[in-house]
Amino acid sequence: MRVSLLFLLFATADLLVATVAQGDDRRSLPQSSRLTKPRAVMPSGSAGVAYSDNFVVRSQQPGQSASKLLETCEQLRGELQTTWAGKVPPAPWRPRCEVVLHANSASYAQAVGRGAAQTSGSSLIQFRGAQVALRRIDLAPVTAGKTSALAHELTHVVVADCFQGRQPPKWLDEGIATRADSAEKQRLHERDFHQALNAGSTFALADLLTIDRCATYDQYATFYGQSLSLVDFLVRQGTPDRVVLFANAALREGYDRALQQVYGIDNLAQLDQLWRTQALAASTSATAATPASLSQTAPE
Ligand SMILES: [Zn+2]
Repeated sequence: MRVSLLFLLFATADLLVATVAQGDDRRSLPQSSRLTKPRAVMPSGSAGVAYSDNFVVRSQQPGQSASKLLETCEQLRGELQTTWAGKVPPAPWRPRCEVVLHANSASYAQAVGRGAAQTSGSSLIQFRGAQVALRRIDLAPVTAGKTSALAHELTHVVVADCFQGRQPPKWLDEGIATRADSAEKQRLHERDFHQALNAGSTFALADLLTIDRCATYDQYATFYGQSLSLVDFLVRQGTPDRVVLFANAALREGYDRALQQVYGIDNLAQLDQLWRTQALAASTSATAATPASLSQTAPE
């Protein structure tokens, strides 16, 4: 996150996992997601640009249709808002979310900046007060017909709407976005987490909930896997949108009060015990079921 006088900026980028085949992100959305009808596509007249109520999509990659990508964006937005916000707001996004599919890695790197070589997508959200002033997603060129990072990055944009200009907690933001990754990538995050759990190198829950950045590559792998595990645990306690309500309550009143109000859990220590007990029970089978030939999952 970068902060300026006028804007509160959230920027995330997601590293490519060289050993992971990029899958269909929508496959991994929660089963409870309800599909919403995509809004009308209104091509601008340029083959590489398409507009809708909520998006401006620019495809700079030959052979990749902006209109088709726009339809995917609208469908994903509806699914993600229904899942995490509990509803699709009647008002369209203003400003629209700009989605740029870059023609090549050089163009993508120029737009995203440092670290672009390890990423396949990046999102940028700017706030002026509680109002969103800019929504933008940059995507690296598509390989094998898949825009694998779109669902993850669009999740960040949707979640940002739920916090009225405040930065969502990092564990929540990445834990939720990781649920939109391909099933194969999620399995790698789970494997990283279970390896850390068995090695005793996971974060204390109080640290996980307040961390904004990690010191080492290994810590990032643990952070993403552990955040995914915690979000999954909380989703099983109720509904996905209650996790977002919980995080909002925690920002206002602290985690102990939020746990009591939303989940009937006494405090962080009890959450840590409940979550860790379930995670340890699942650890042996999860570790054994993951192919050993895949290397460590990259942080995002
Ligand atoms: Zn992310």
